Amino acid sequence: MPTFPGPDDDCHLGFGQVFRNLGVTLYLSLMQDPLKKYDVIIAGSGIYGTSMASILAKSGLKVLIIERGKHPRFALGEALLPQSAIWPFIIGERFGIPEIGHLSHADRIVDNITPSCGLKHSIGFAHHTEGVPLEASKLHQLVPPHLPFYSESHLYREEVDQFLLDAAIQYGADYVEETPITNVHIGASGVMVSCPLNEYHGEYYVDASGRGSKLVEQQGYRIGAPEAMTHSRTLFAHVEGLQPFDHLIASPSQGRQWHEGTFHHVFDGGWMWVIPFDNFARSSSRKASIGLMLDPRKHPENSDLSPEEEFRAFISRFPDIERHLEGIEVTMPFKRTGRLQYASRQSVGDRHFTAPGTFGFVDPLYSNGLIHTFESVYFGARHLLSAFGKEEGPVAPGDFSTAAFARMELLHRTQWKHSDATISKAYASMAEFSSWNAWTQYWLAQILFGDLWLQRACFRYFEDGNVAHFDAFLDEIRPGEKAPFAQDKESLLEDLGALLEIRGNGVVDTGEAMLARLAQESWLPRHVYDWGASESRHVDFSRDEVVGALLGWGFEASPDHLRQGLFDFKLPATA
Ligand SMILES: Cc1cc2nc3c(=O)[nH]c(=O)nc-3n(C[C@H](O)[C@H](O)[C@H](O)COP(=O)(O)OP(=O)(O)OC[C@H]3O[C@@H](n4cnc5c(N)ncnc54)[C@H](O)[C@@H]3O)c2cc1C
Repeated sequence: MPTFPGPDDDCHLGFGQVFRNLGVTLYLSLMQDPLKKYDVIIAGSGIYGTSMASILAKSGLKVLIIERGKHPRFALGEALLPQSAIWPFIIGERFGIPEIGHLSHADRIVDNITPSCGLKHSIGFAHHTEGVPLEASKLHQLVPPHLPFYSESHLYREEVDQFLLDAAIQYGADYVEETPITNVHIGASGVMVSCPLNEYHGEYYVDASGRGSKLVEQQGYRIGAPEAMTHSRTLFAHVEGLQPFDHLIASPSQGRQWHEGTFHHVFDGGWMWVIPFDNFARSSSRKASIGLMLDPRKHPENSDLSPEEEFRAFISRFPDIERHLEGIEVTMPFKRTGRLQYASRQSVGDRHFTAPGTFGFVDPLYSNGLIHTFESVYFGARHLLSAFGKEEGPVAPGDFSTAAFARMELLHRTQWKHSDATISKAYASMAEFSSWNAWTQYWLAQILFGDLWLQRACFRYFEDGNVAHFDAFLDEIRPGEKAPFAQDKESLLEDLGALLEIRGNGVVDTGEAMLARLAQESWLPRHVYDWGASESRHVDFSRDEVVGALLGWGFEASPDHLRQGLFDFKLPATA
């Protein structure tokens, strides 16, 4: 039976750490044998490709990862949420890969991977009006419950990705780098992947190479994003010298320092992420990640300026954002992109599927990217391991057909649609504070219950050690879709969305109407956090009395469907 591990329960010494300490670059100039037939060829050595490779290689499959670039390399996807911290724990336990499990806790990251990451105790939002100093009444701070088996972090991806790659190699995966994929042939009896110097042969192809995927281009899967409701572009960089926002403003009832979490400046038509890596006694970093997300229909690109000049010109319109970033020094040149949204017609075909980040992307608000990545790694690994006869699972051995992997298609579509629905409404709500306030309260409700759905599976696993509690997620289109609160959440989303759509009709005050709609919800524990009250802006679920009130309500006083279908676990003694 599993124990309820805390941060000190270090299951494994990180291989990458050991090899780097020895000064050995394991895979330097490694050229794989082109005559070898692989079971699975994986395009891309980001978190998706290397996590999948570790799982498959550990079970004895012959795996090749092909990477266009070279590690260590910069990557985005730095802020975790509870769900993207819990998933690595689940994957680590389910497939016996502690290296992935290390991502589930800030202390495990420092102990095993790198001291260059930050931690995330909270998520903070400050709503700004152009030209006006920030008001303390326009801040939100949401602190999730703190449980011993996970904590959220700010991942310094250069080092995290290198570590995960080293782990995949140690589990037996072959790796080639600086090797762009130039052609992918999917045949009836196997796949052939061409690169400038070699061709590689395999049974199955997993494409985790992202937006520029060769396979997606060749198959004609890419559709841009004509139906995306979200519309955004970005300007981002890594910096040093970032001052904690706490020096500028405090709000009386906030539970944590702003700098201890991911901070978001929000305004009409956009938002900015602030992700410190230095915010933790155990971190040796001096860096932070900052990035502006702008709706180009409201804030078109100014290509007369360099990306950094445009960034600085933009923030000078908001006095307290400018003050927050006073004194920063850029450690990598600012990057500027065009519209970020993209999608695909298809994610699965015979002998191949694409990862969520290859299938499409919406916008990084609410850090869905790594949640989707890990959900898909779990689903994809269970499909592949059963298709290769390594485990019983959703696919019959030897079946690599489109139909056998159809759930992956549904998963990736549902993830994308969910992101687009919530993030486009978030942008709409940013136009003024009261609708943003109501929207943020909605977001808190749905994320809190989504987190509980994953925590419930972990608690049940701690009770009896049965990994079937995790495999139950495979019966849902996407984890949470069959949860007892799913319908409540969906109706609320629809109603709030409808109110946002009629904004400005002169009849309804959108923000007030959204708050009133939230206040009607009987499935939300109002005594814990007064959903719908305009002053409900900070909540700290890391405080024993607050989480105790939530659980007490859940076990005894919540509506029947929640008590029977969500709060049906026993709390481990150590929780
Ligand atoms: C602006 C922005 C901010 C984000 N912030 C967050 C966040 O805070 N939190 C979060 O959870 N998510 C965030 N995301 C999403 C996150 O970045 C992705 O979900 C995650 O990185 C996907 O991982 P991956 O392994 O699928 O892809 P990647 O990490 O992109 O890896 C793809 C790999 O494929 C390689 N490759 C590409 N083409 C080829 C080729 N032809 N041949 C071989 N190799 C190739 C690339 O070099 C790369 O190493 C953000 C995304 C963006 C755009």
